[in-house]
Amino acid sequence: MTNQTVDIVKDSLQALVDNQAFLPELNGERRTKAFTSLLSILSTPNHVNKSYLRIALENGQVVRIPAFRVQHNNILGPYKGGIRFHESVNEEEVVNLASLMTLKNALHQVPFGGGKGGVIINPREYSEKDLYVICKKYVQYFSDILGPDKDIPAPDVGTGEREMDWMMGEYKSIRPGESYRGSFTGKSVENGGSLGRREATGKGVYYTFRYLMHDFLEKHETWVSERDNKFAKTVLALKSKPLTVAVQGFGNVGSVAALAAYQCNYLNNKVVAVSDRNVTLHNSEGLDIPSLVKFCSSNHGDLPTTDMELKHIGVKAEILNREDVLSLNMDVLFLAALENQVHDNNKKGIKARIIVEGANAPVTTEADDYLSEQGVVIIPDILANAGGVIVSYLEWLQGRETQFYQEDEVFEKLYEKMSDTFEAVLPQFFNDPFPLRQNCYIHAVMKLSTILYRQGKLY
Ligand code: NAD
Repeated sequence: MTNQTVDIVKDSLQALVDNQAFLPELNGERRTKAFTSLLSILSTPNHVNKSYLRIALENGQVVRIPAFRVQHNNILGPYKGGIRFHESVNEEEVVNLASLMTLKNALHQVPFGGGKGGVIINPREYSEKDLYVICKKYVQYFSDILGPDKDIPAPDVGTGEREMDWMMGEYKSIRPGESYRGSFTGKSVENGGSLGRREATGKGVYYTFRYLMHDFLEKHETWVSERDNKFAKTVLALKSKPLTVAVQGFGNVGSVAALAAYQCNYLNNKVVAVSDRNVTLHNSEGLDIPSLVKFCSSNHGDLPTTDMELKHIGVKAEILNREDVLSLNMDVLFLAALENQVHDNNKKGIKARIIVEGANAPVTTEADDYLSEQGVVIIPDILANAGGVIVSYLEWLQGRETQFYQEDEVFEKLYEKMSDTFEAVLPQFFNDPFPLRQNCYIHAVMKLSTILYRQGKLY
């Protein structure tokens, strides 16, 4: 786990130790001891599994590729978390992402624990056949620890439906006669996936922002305006104003969030910039997001990088460097690319007053502290990007029941679950001086401590 995650877990636990109304049965020395042991449970993973996958590539080379499956905590249910294919994957990162899954599931009351997988490759450098073999080998090497009631992987950066279909197919071959539909989520709809899974994270990310700026204020604006809280002031200052929006990352999460912002009837948004691994596209009058989404779907997911390509699809935009998206003039910045994008060296250039974390851990501790001090509202990853795991849970349920929901039912259930969490978290956020991340961690840790205590594991 990174120091950032450990520090916030520590602060959240301290707030709970001090709150005598929480688990009052635990008192005196017993209380201190129990919370110290909780910190050690939450700040370390249960298992770090590492293997070197031996792969005979199509070009004749035989290579050994490092692969991880980290199982952080399963007190709430089977381990759950994506598998990332990326050249920068490393053990610390996978452990941290697994721990964020534990907290995310606890926060949203999803009955899963936290896990994460990673393979150190750049998938763009491998043929389809090689990727198929890598996926099969991943399942073979980790088959003992995976399964619908043990550990359920899903897609992450560099993986998608195709990889989950292959992996589930291999799991089924290795374990004939056993239940397999819930062994992987994020599968194609034809292969037992859930309608709406692909869009779930991006839609949920946008919904979190809309809920804060519209749904919650519609019900509680007077109450919020009476709070003496810098974050409440930031939110109210932007309310009813036309909002300029930028989105970093235009993949599964970013493109869906950008489209939801573009199409939103509840808020007056203008999406002025989007970016990906190659470029930033900027237009202060607003970008034509549907045309960019269409272009990406036929261009391996990449945005246009030349004036000619932009002209061809009729989109007006200036082409800037990829990191420029962060420092342009805007009200709201969605971060939907990778970790550590806003950090000590660029934090002062951020002009957005609201940041929404679609990616996991895209803002470092130093930047988070600085921006929160300035009253910037940061909607944290564990709150904003849970749409994927919530719909994964629905996919797992549908697989068990072999009964499938319509797409609008899926989104209805997703929004219902997320809004329950917002209603639990937002009143405390506007009432107390803590940033939203801290509030979310307190809720998650509260859930985990209660269940650990009830199961007799807090000693
Ligand atoms: P993706 O691979 O579909 O898209 C990633 C996007 O980021 C691409 O547009 C890519 O070009 C861009 N990108 C890569 N490096 C960049 C850089 N240095 N600067 C700017 N853009 C860059 O991945 P995704 O599924 O959209 O996931 C994005 C983030 O959201 C990841 O952090 C992932 O862990 C997180 N997340 C994803 C899901 C999900 O369901 N897909 C769920 C929860 C969290």
